[in-house]
This record gives sequence, C-alpha cells and structure tokens, in this order.
Amino acid sequence: MFLCRIRTDAGVVPAVRIDDETLLDLTPVAGAAGDDLVALAAMPGLAAAVASLAADGAAARIPVASTRFEVPVARPQKIVCVALNYVAHAEEGAQAVPSEPVIFFKPPSSLLPHGETVRCPARSSRLDFEVELAVVIGTRARDVAVSDWRDVVLGYTVLNDMTARDLQLVAIEKNQPWDHSKGFDTFAPCGPYLVTADEIDDPGNLDLSLTVDGVVRQSSNTRHMVFGVPELISVISAGITLEPGDIIATGTPSGIGKVDDGGTMVATVAGVGSLVNPAAYERAAVGTPA
Ligand code: MG
Repeated sequence: MFLCRIRTDAGVVPAVRIDDETLLDLTPVAGAAGDDLVALAAMPGLAAAVASLAADGAAARIPVASTRFEVPVARPQKIVCVALNYVAHAEEGAQAVPSEPVIFFKPPSSLLPHGETVRCPARSSRLDFEVELAVVIGTRARDVAVSDWRDVVLGYTVLNDMTARDLQLVAIEKNQPWDHSKGFDTFAPCGPYLVTADEIDDPGNLDLSLTVDGVVRQSSNTRHMVFGVPELISVISAGITLEPGDIIATGTPSGIGKVDDGGTMVATVAGVGSLVNPAAYERAAVGTPA
C-alpha cells in the first residue's frame, strides 16, 4: 500500500493511493490510529478494509494533483542518515570508502512535506540535494541480526538529504561534525508516501534519481550501496534502540550538486515515489550578495 498523510478541510487525515491519480481518505477505517501511518499500517486486516472501502464508493476520493501532503511520519524519534554509502559518491567528495557504516542524525524538526519549499538559511550560499532511499522502522528493536532485518521494516519512502555544502566543507576541514549543516529546518524533505514493505521485494535493487528543473543530476541504483539495508539496520541498532516511525536515510549516489534559488527538485526512487520540492535561498530573498 501507498499510505500518506494529507491536509484536508477536516485537518490532517490518512489516505491511500488507489491509482496514479487518486487517493482514498482512510478516516472511516483508521479508528484510533488516526493519521499515525505507523499505527495504521500495523492494523490487522487493513488491506481488506481498504479494499472494502474502495469498493463501496462512499469514501472520499481525492485527486493526487490537488493534494497537499504532510510528511508520512509526523514525529519520528530520530532520523538516522548514512554517509558515504555509495562508492562513486565517496570518490566524488575525495573521501575514503568507509569500512563500516558512517552515521549522523538529522533532527525531526528538519522534516518537510512533499511540495513544500526547502529554505537555505542566510548563513549558507550552497544548498545541495541528495536523493536517498529511506527506511521506516515499524518495530521497537535493538541489536537486530542481519538476517532479521525484515522484521523491523515497516516500509520505505524517499528522503532528500539537503545539505549546506559550504558549511559542511568547513566542518570537514576542521574535523568537526556536520550535523549542523545538514540539520537546518526544511533540510529533510520526505515522502510523499510510506510504501509498505510488501510492495518492495528487494530494497537493494531500486533505481533512484534526482532532477532539477527537468535535468537529470543523479541517477543510480541502490545495488551500488556499500552497505545494504539489512547490514545498515543491524549496525545502527547495535546499541541504539530503533523505535516505530524512526527513519533511516540510506545514503546518496554520485552526482550531488547545488540547487539554485527557485529550482525545483524531483527525487525519485522506483516503486517508492517521487518527492518534489522547490528551493529558496534566504540570502537571495534579502538581496545579500552570495
Ligand atoms: Mg546523504
């Protein structure tokens, strides 16, 4: 299922995509889960309830094109990001390919829905895109064995790991963490859908790409990850409890680069979705020279 949270006159409601152009309001079957997609996806019999709702014709049908999306997980406890997880990306940044996963965190306050504008703070003049497959955790778990990875995965979404590259490069130069340059408000566009795990046979073989104003800037496949989803879950959960709704952004392929003020990014993971976000520079908005 392609689940999402959308804004309607009645507030934020859960919905499911029933075809490329149409969403179905799931309020009648959501019960206590409300717009919590993690709780909703865990409901026994959800697929049958959705099928019944779709068949009876009474549920509200909403055109995708005019929908205002919210992020699929409203309040994840943490967003774990993986750095340098594609060989070609590590090489383009003159970084060594790591021998074990390198992780950092984005604050939940950096989340941004599909369709909303990424805002580069005035202190930066280089806003970079990074398309990434993101895993949404469904079960509280720690010390997950590589072979048990499927037990904790609720589904997948798309995350664009926005980066104030100028500030990050200064941090790298000083041997300092880069959380700040990747943690600003709006720097984690995410969505539009939470695609349940049953829809994706192998997260290790998905095409992913990013365009800016229609020009392809990144194009790869998740099979080129240095560490795949099973290994990432095992390593990250070794000593860190993963909670339902936590997001793991699995790293970006090569081709990273700057999006200019007013540019529109489309980050796509095949079978998961296309995440669209325009970019704006606060520096440009106030007329300060870059
Ligand atoms: Mg990244």
